Amino acid sequence: MKALAKLKAEPGIWQTEVDKPEVGPNDVLIRIKKTAICGTDVHIYKWDEWAQNTIPHGMVVGHEYVGVIEGMGSEVRGFKVGDRVSGEGHITCGYCRNCRAGRVHLCRNTTGVGVNRPGAFAEYLVIPAYNAFKLADNIPDNIAAIFDPFGNAVHTALSFDLVGEDVLITGAGPIGIMAAAVARHVGARHVVITDVNQYRLDLALKMGATRAVDVSKQNLKDVMNELGMTEGFDVGLEMSGVPAAFRSMLDTMNHGGKIAMLGIPPSDMAVDWNKVIFKGLVIKGIYGREMFETWYKMASLIQSGLDLTPMITHEMPMENYQEGFEIMCSGQSGKVILNWS
Ligand code: NAD
Ligand code: ZN
Repeated sequence: MKALAKLKAEPGIWQTEVDKPEVGPNDVLIRIKKTAICGTDVHIYKWDEWAQNTIPHGMVVGHEYVGVIEGMGSEVRGFKVGDRVSGEGHITCGYCRNCRAGRVHLCRNTTGVGVNRPGAFAEYLVIPAYNAFKLADNIPDNIAAIFDPFGNAVHTALSFDLVGEDVLITGAGPIGIMAAAVARHVGARHVVITDVNQYRLDLALKMGATRAVDVSKQNLKDVMNELGMTEGFDVGLEMSGVPAAFRSMLDTMNHGGKIAMLGIPPSDMAVDWNKVIFKGLVIKGIYGREMFETWYKMASLIQSGLDLTPMITHEMPMENYQEGFEIMCSGQSGKVILNWS
């Protein structure tokens, strides 16, 4: 079957032929319809230090997708051939303390689809049936294809009560923008998002941010004054991984504020811990999505009218993947979809 894989230890991703994956007794076989390119795929494409230390030779990459179940193992219940699904890309162990307690997103033995095991940039994907998420008919394919990063946005945004709150989102990447849309949808008051990329800030405004601030040109505190925010933000969602952005968040949070951190900093990140202590801030780290509460919330948010369509700015046949990666690398995009059928 056709697949996109990391065939060489250098920047790039290559189209190749690989064997169709084998289906174990608890697995489902998914025929891939559409995939989306994630920031993680871009790291693998660019072959940065993390990718060099993590990705085995020849790995089929990709973990954002929608497809149709075409086969399943003998032990699988609850799915049938023809079901349209996306899937949770974190495969959990099932035997650690958190897994056995039902806190599966906190599994300490997680492996990643398209990172540690063959991924979704292929005609077929095999995952444990447990990880498949059946989609209602009223969720369009293009939206289902971005459920993985949408789930990061939903898990982070819904970590704290947002109703009537003033929310700061640092980083208007695809995930930050979707978090802004979620925050508005569930009833936040001001949703201020920051970035240094005007294309993405414009997209964030379109998706419902109250204010989109280019921090290379404008002072965040001036914006807060214009909005009449005298005390500070109630909730912070860190979605850039940029230390300066996190420091500006600590600066502008109100006392008792709550921060959810999704962005991955490049290395050690120095902050003024006195701000955390004397403001009494609560900081929560976020990894992935809650299995499967986040998935149910995602479906419900779409069904209650949250429109993510503007997030998909580019769509192309999978053969044009090179162009897709270049667009993602340029920063002049929302999500880029590759069509497989
Ligand atoms: P992205 O790289 O597309 O977005 C990050 C954005 O931050 C970019 O638009 C960039 O221009 C912006 N930025 C740069 N400097 C800034 C500054 N000073 N202030 C504000 N913004 C600034 O990434 P994404 O795909 O949207 O993901 C967001 C973050 O979450 C990344 O760090 C990613 O690695 C991380 N991530 C974490 C998880 C997890 O499970 N914890 C999952 C997916 C992604
Ligand atoms: Zn586990």
